[in-house]
Amino acid sequence: MAQKRYLFTPGPTPVPPEVLAVLSQPIVHHRGADFRPVYEQCLARLKDICRTSSDVLLFTASGTGAMESAVANLCSPGNRVLVVSAGAFGERWIEIAERYGCDVAALRYEWGEIPRAEDVAARLTELGDARAVFLTHSETSTGVVCDLRAIASAIRPSGAHVVVDAVSSLGAVPLEMDAWGIDVVCSGSQKALMTPPGLAFAAVSEAVWEPEGRASSPRYYFDWERTRKAQDILDAPFTPAVSLVAALNVALGMLLDEGLGAVFDRHVRLGRACRAGIKALQLELFSPDDDSSAVVTAARTPAGINAAELVSLLSERLGVQLAGGHGPLKQTVFRIGHIGYYDIFDIVTSLAAVELGLKQLGAHVEPGAAVARALEAFEGVPV
Ligand code: PMP
Repeated sequence: MAQKRYLFTPGPTPVPPEVLAVLSQPIVHHRGADFRPVYEQCLARLKDICRTSSDVLLFTASGTGAMESAVANLCSPGNRVLVVSAGAFGERWIEIAERYGCDVAALRYEWGEIPRAEDVAARLTELGDARAVFLTHSETSTGVVCDLRAIASAIRPSGAHVVVDAVSSLGAVPLEMDAWGIDVVCSGSQKALMTPPGLAFAAVSEAVWEPEGRASSPRYYFDWERTRKAQDILDAPFTPAVSLVAALNVALGMLLDEGLGAVFDRHVRLGRACRAGIKALQLELFSPDDDSSAVVTAARTPAGINAAELVSLLSERLGVQLAGGHGPLKQTVFRIGHIGYYDIFDIVTSLAAVELGLKQLGAHVEPGAAVARALEAFEGVPV
């Protein structure tokens, strides 16, 4: 039999059959009557997912495109900005902002640390005049999900725009754009939103559209004003990935039908199950051992076992794709994603594969323990 493939990374993530089916439909024209209602519904559903009444601008790009659009539309060269960084994706904000000539101040944490609202407030007071604060809601490289609500409210008194990378958090954990006073939410299609890679979005609050807020950085494809005007009349400025928009529309409909509360609860329980299994394997968690960590579980391999080797063994021999560690964590940390189209059997399969892989690499593991503990933790009762 051809090797069956299992995708357990925190993006891209598996796509439900209903969404895959839409991708096989004939191509429609983006300015025609076939596309407009789909486009309209997809844009409206994105607002519901972001919990905002403001516009969500849709781009054919990966999530980083939405992040770059935020810097290009909010900042002029020389603007002082603050970036909160506690991992690989916080560092990405720094790189983009530097590339656009911003005067970047970084509030850096060790990878794996959880950013604190009081540190952000103190740093802003020290800086005096930051134009924007860029932060990462779910730092996919470490498994940390920060307390976005607290951090956003610590930023508000300074008047700086609150700009959030929600690429791996949107649709997995609560994010209340309007209620929490967030100005910009950037995300992408290929994570908790159960759609292939290729679409990015930036939800932009009304405060950002004020004329005095215009920035002078160069931009063309990612110009927010142009995109908003075009979206207002359902006439995309450039050819959008029409099939992906149709697919995203179906995926968002599925999430909204399940109910965001139920979706978030499922992610919490999947996180619990995954951590229980990892601990049953006697592995040390790198991501936090609490319910905040509902996106990706990061764990250290036992002494003497290389995490990159484990990840490639699982992929090559067992067909199970986990994620390796980023940057300095490459040799010691592996990650299991549990966002989007995931259920408990995906967690159980990934843990069973880790158990087999560790055994093949010479570690001592108790057969079946991880699976049993994971099921128990998911159900909340002994099985
Ligand atoms: N931010 C976070 C938190 C991410 O997890 C990712 C993708 N792993 C990105 C940004 C970048 O997104 P993309 O690869 O879609 O550009």
